[in-house]
Amino acid sequence: MVNVLEQRMQQSFVDHVDENLLMDCMRCGFCLPACPTYLITGQDEVHSPRGRIALMKAVRDGEVKWDGSVEEAFDVCLGCRACEPACPAGVQYGTLLEETRYAIQEAKPTSLKEKLIRKVAFDGLFANQQIMQGTVKLIQFYQASGIQKVTRKVGFMELFPDSLRDMETVLPKIVSKKTRQPQEKKQLRVAFFTGCLMETMFQQTNQRTIELLEYLGAEVIIPGGQACCGALHGHSGELPKAKRNAVQNVNAFHHEDFDFIVQNAGGCGAFLSEYGKLLGSVEAQRFSEQLTDISSLLVKLGLTEKIAQLPKKTEGVVTYQDSCHLRNVNKVWVEPRALLQATPGWEFKEMPNAAGCCGSAGIYNLLQPVVAGQILEQKMKGVKAVTPARVVTSNPGCLLQMKVGIEREGLGASMQAVHIVDFIYETIF
Ligand code: SF4
Ligand code: SF4
Repeated sequence: MVNVLEQRMQQSFVDHVDENLLMDCMRCGFCLPACPTYLITGQDEVHSPRGRIALMKAVRDGEVKWDGSVEEAFDVCLGCRACEPACPAGVQYGTLLEETRYAIQEAKPTSLKEKLIRKVAFDGLFANQQIMQGTVKLIQFYQASGIQKVTRKVGFMELFPDSLRDMETVLPKIVSKKTRQPQEKKQLRVAFFTGCLMETMFQQTNQRTIELLEYLGAEVIIPGGQACCGALHGHSGELPKAKRNAVQNVNAFHHEDFDFIVQNAGGCGAFLSEYGKLLGSVEAQRFSEQLTDISSLLVKLGLTEKIAQLPKKTEGVVTYQDSCHLRNVNKVWVEPRALLQATPGWEFKEMPNAAGCCGSAGIYNLLQPVVAGQILEQKMKGVKAVTPARVVTSNPGCLLQMKVGIEREGLGASMQAVHIVDFIYETIF
């Protein structure tokens, strides 16, 4: 007998999951070897792109009973989108996953506690830059006041799950925001999408992004009224809230005249680059078309040639961990490597499986700590194979995850994870 939840779930899938996109899948299986969860679960088809698409279709058609195992198949997906470039049929897996998570969120009964957490996270923290700034000020106080040292000493952090404890140990030292001086008008104008995490926890990296662009002769504009990109909302079944943030961002950038919109976080960049598809408006499409990531723009503006002429002193080996979204969605992997190869004194070595997900995937490492931990363990095998002094990344989540990996492996004395902007900046200045 079909129960009420099964019926509601099926109807929600019919309402929100696009059947045409599901039908694009030919079930060929070319995507299977690209999928980290398929590989890590011993080739379990349920945890593969093909299996998940089949499940989406089966729930939509009422052929599969909705239970915990079906939901788990969607929860375990990293959303890394490594399946997309591998797919000969061009299946839009990322869109299907967002629609599926939204359909589940709409139909599933949610406890009061979860509703409250979602409200605080998606309507508060990641919707409002001022609340985000306030929260980060608290973390800054926690770090600067000595409370952090005390809590570690008395073992207070032992009360929290391992994944949260690990994250606490690798939190970057938060620096105060510098006041910007008015810029003179230049021929090349770049609008900077600052991002919520990057503008708060990684404020120094944002500051350095601006300085690097100015060093290359660009005028950097920061349009007011920006919101979080909405990726976290979209990936967590909160599509309407993701669209709300997208509209706010498109409006914020709509009134300025510039040549590029630049961002320095791979995960945000992928979501921003799909605003055109998400909102379907001319303005959103224009926003997405103007978007570029920082490595691509630095290469375009000639930084590779410029740094290659700097004096050399031997520094060590550097390797690069791809941001899944920057690579799989925005197709950027050559430019970051070109920058690292041009950096004097550093020997660039490609690590095995550099393009594979590190297990960070937004807040996946907190929600799915076991699978995330297994993926990170695999990743660290690749890192150790090239014994780098620096692991460079292009996304704040990957950066923190690689820091966790380095700490877990006890490599902190010889290895550091750094954002590509910081790596380049420290070479030049
Ligand atoms: S998004 Fe990543 S984890 Fe999910 S099915 Fe595709 S490749 Fe696998
Ligand atoms: S998602 Fe693409 S690669 Fe995977 S089975 Fe379907 S058509 Fe084939």
